[in-house]
Amino acid sequence: MKIETRLAQIGNGLDPATGAISAPIYQSTTFAHPGLGQSTGFDYARTLNPTRKALEEAIADLEGGDRGLAFASGMAAVHAVLSLFQPGDHIIVSNDLYGGTYRVLEQILRPLGITASYVHTGKMDDIEAVALPSTKAIFIETPTNPMMQITDIAACSILAQARGWLTIVDNTFMTPYLQRPLDLGADIVLHSATKYLGGHNDVMAGLVVAKTAELGERLYFVQNSIGAVLGPHDAWLLMRGMKTLALRMERHMKNAFAIAGWLDARDDIPHVYYPGLETHPGRDICSRQASGFGGMVSFDVLDARMVPYILEHLELITFAESLGGVESLMTYPARQTHFDIPEDVRNAIGVTDTLLRFSVGIEHIGDLIDDLAQALEYAGDRVLAVRG
Ligand SMILES: *Cc1c(COP(=O)(O)O)cnc(C)c1O
Repeated sequence: MKIETRLAQIGNGLDPATGAISAPIYQSTTFAHPGLGQSTGFDYARTLNPTRKALEEAIADLEGGDRGLAFASGMAAVHAVLSLFQPGDHIIVSNDLYGGTYRVLEQILRPLGITASYVHTGKMDDIEAVALPSTKAIFIETPTNPMMQITDIAACSILAQARGWLTIVDNTFMTPYLQRPLDLGADIVLHSATKYLGGHNDVMAGLVVAKTAELGERLYFVQNSIGAVLGPHDAWLLMRGMKTLALRMERHMKNAFAIAGWLDARDDIPHVYYPGLETHPGRDICSRQASGFGGMVSFDVLDARMVPYILEHLELITFAESLGGVESLMTYPARQTHFDIPEDVRNAIGVTDTLLRFSVGIEHIGDLIDDLAQALEYAGDRVLAVRG
């Protein structure tokens, strides 16, 4: 069945006793044993809970993997995956990376002896240049957050496989509706499900899918041992959000495409980063490996002093962290999501003080453009007129 159908049907048919259409929330931490040495399949909820299991099976199916695992947040999912590595191991990572992942790599794993090198993973020569005998994996975001760099997942997976490395893809920006890294050769895919999968800015969650049963078993061991599992109520909320993913993504993309084109045509916007623009260097690869360009648009304004005026004068679009919800959000990466990345490192990849990131929601496009236009004009009058 097609992915739209599988999304809409998540959780349906799980409870033949009642015929519930919506997956029941099993708010139970423990489950009775029918007898000595017997189990219903559920013993203790950190190990397995029926509501979480329904979600885990759904994401495994959507991503085309053997096993899905649900965590309390995207970072818990990232940490669980990185827990597969040992002191002495080295990982190659996309240099334009979610700030929280960078923080875990640098401030939690590096002191434990697990090191990372950051490169543009879209450039095979750059990957080769930092490879070490101790390299164990390549960790990719594509498109990256917030610069929208594109990496060829299939090409990376081939290189990684030849070297015996794991290929790990953070698929938060695209979701399995648009991009399925496991089909392209990756071994592990993960999500901050807090973003598009949940879709309503009301639930925090992380998901991991392993391609093989062997990797799935190792990740399940980590999940059960460390215990950052997703609770049953949040698992239900996430499934409820995921049912409409296909519809939401279509609208996010349509709006983002329009916003990117509108921004690109303005004189006061020096650069727009959106993989769907003809001028985007990763456009061809992105359209080959994904069925759309997503709903995230980043752009530079002419002068960093405009930023506070823009953020304070947006009326409809909310100045807030996060992305992927039905409500439009504007983020200032240099001060928010990427604050933990040193300034010189940030500037080198383009996360400068003039960069804004727009999570384009599903509102009417006319209202979004009106709001952006008035905020840009206000900021321009304040800063550029003064500068003269
Ligand atoms: C938000 C985000 C994360 C972290 O997820 P949380 O749910 O906030 O813990 C990881 N990767 C990407 C790409 C993200 O956008």
